[in-house]
Amino acid sequence: MFKKLLAGAAVSALLTHSLFAAPTGKDIPFAAEAREIYKTAVETHTAKGHGKVPDLANYLAGKFKAAGFPEEDIHVKPVGETAVLIVRYRGDGSSGKKPISISAHMDVVEALASDWVNDPFKLIEKDGFFFGRGTLDDKLGITAVTTAFLRMKTEGFVPSRDLIIAFSGDEETGMISTKALVHEFRDLTDSEFVLNADVGGGLLPEEGGPPASFGLQAAEKTYVTFEATVRNPGGHSSRPTGTNAIYDLATALKKLEAYNFTVNYNDLTLKYFSSTAKKTPGDLGKAMAKFATDPTDEWAIKTLRKDPSFVGTVGTTCVATMLQGGHAENALPQSATATINCRIFPGEGVAKTLATLKTVMANEEIEFVTLGDPTETDASPLRDDVLAALRKAVDTTYPGLEIVPSMSSGGTDGMHFRAAGIPSYGVHSVYIKSSDAFAHGLNERLPVKTFYDSLTHWYVLLTEISK
Ligand SMILES: [Zn+2]
Repeated sequence: MFKKLLAGAAVSALLTHSLFAAPTGKDIPFAAEAREIYKTAVETHTAKGHGKVPDLANYLAGKFKAAGFPEEDIHVKPVGETAVLIVRYRGDGSSGKKPISISAHMDVVEALASDWVNDPFKLIEKDGFFFGRGTLDDKLGITAVTTAFLRMKTEGFVPSRDLIIAFSGDEETGMISTKALVHEFRDLTDSEFVLNADVGGGLLPEEGGPPASFGLQAAEKTYVTFEATVRNPGGHSSRPTGTNAIYDLATALKKLEAYNFTVNYNDLTLKYFSSTAKKTPGDLGKAMAKFATDPTDEWAIKTLRKDPSFVGTVGTTCVATMLQGGHAENALPQSATATINCRIFPGEGVAKTLATLKTVMANEEIEFVTLGDPTETDASPLRDDVLAALRKAVDTTYPGLEIVPSMSSGGTDGMHFRAAGIPSYGVHSVYIKSSDAFAHGLNERLPVKTFYDSLTHWYVLLTEISK
């Protein structure tokens, strides 16, 4: 899933570091190979229901074989109609450390060709962009990580610890394959931590120039949906009674509307606010700075809660999203159901959130149902080695760009690794303008420059973290 990146005003005086004097763009090693992989990946229709993920996994497996990876280190494992790809890059063990996994997803969200300007499953380069489903989410990640492995192998690079590619095949839908990577195939993927090639990077300002910051995803909120139902014997609408399922539910929902969940914070969100404050003008910036030093400050909390971009960063949110009730225009309703979607702050938990909902909505007659099987995760502690390697990688594209830890609203492979006790860091290199970001939507695209920059980013990141 392509998460909201970190917005902000452009920073001046960025270019204090000397520029990395390596080749860039199409001149970098393996650029042509990468473009071919990208084209094949985009043109393989890996949306749910088409059964094509194994084709893509096998195609990539062939590339690793051709580059000299031994067969026993390359695994395409079927998971229902989809598949996972696991590739181990053996190190010399000199660091004495556990492996590092790199995650990305081979599937895409469905795209209807009739709605697109061009065929979504053809890679088209036009006006400085690559167009096609997955160009942004996440066939860029698949391509950049694969190409980095091929280049490192060809150059004879030997890591000081094993590196493991762990590509999932249904991240956009069930994440069954992600769970399989973490549990069923744990003997092949067990690692100290994960680098996620599906989230990370920065928003390019609409007016041009470098991004304001690089967002490093180190936490996700828990996504959970509840249904709240009021039942009633009903009756004829000409004979209203003292109780009514719709009125009872409406009364309870008005209480939820007026309620603010407890304020939460952790090291990561406080760092995020103190960094972002510097580039955010007006009261909002002041509130961020204040909250970062005193997260109990009432004015700061109130100001941040008023902004839809930040209300979720200061605590759990739950909001009514769907409504259903009654069965005939001339009958008293026998039931009324509201769908309530929550984004739970790390550490708060689903059970506690549900208990709070029950207390707040204050009607013992309401039946609550939890939809699906929510995955609860804690924030991943920031690591100096990840930050140091990421620093070098980011500097190849935007020297000196500030790296800001972030928490996304939930929904990447990272959450299943975190839930299993393996920290995950979203360190991908997507740089795009907000007005060009159409992940999951129509006419998805990626700036050509970002494509080639991403290849260098992953090559530097992986060689630095494992040298
Ligand atoms: Zn994605």
